[in-house]
This record gives sequence, C-alpha cells and structure tokens, in this order.
Amino acid sequence: MNNQKHQQPSGFKCPVCGGFIPVSIKQLLTEEQFVCPQCALNIRLNKASSQKALSALQKVQEAEEKVKKASVFNGIT
Ligand SMILES: [Zn+2]
Repeated sequence: MNNQKHQQPSGFKCPVCGGFIPVSIKQLLTEEQFVCPQCALNIRLNKASSQKALSALQKVQEAEEKVKKASVFNGIT
C-alpha cells in the first residue's frame, strides 16, 4: 500500500545549516536521535521536555489516520 503521493514530507529545519531534515511523525514519536543529511549534525530529542509537543503530534497523527479512513470511505460512496 503506497498512496501517500500527496502527502507533504514532514520534518524540521536544521539549526546549524538550515537544511531540511525529513522526519516522519512516527519517527518523532519513536526515535530519539536524528541526523541532518546536509551537515551530519546529530540532534537529540529531549522527550521529557517535549512531551507536550509530542502528544500534540500524536493527536495530529491520529487525526491523519482518521482522515485517511474517511477519504477511503468517501471514495466508495
Ligand atoms: Zn544541518
């Protein structure tokens, strides 16, 4: 299953080189370290201090799942 062609890549800007670091919401929720593809900067997420942001992201992801289901449903009817 690969119907994500309209999905924008999620991620964040590297604080050092300003390059884009592609990180999926799932990765944000499950992983603690990310490496900038441009300058190889190692970014460590402090999960304790970003708990609020992470739970917000989790809600975003849940909402996305619902939207996906809804669009499938709308496609049928
Ligand atoms: Zn960088």
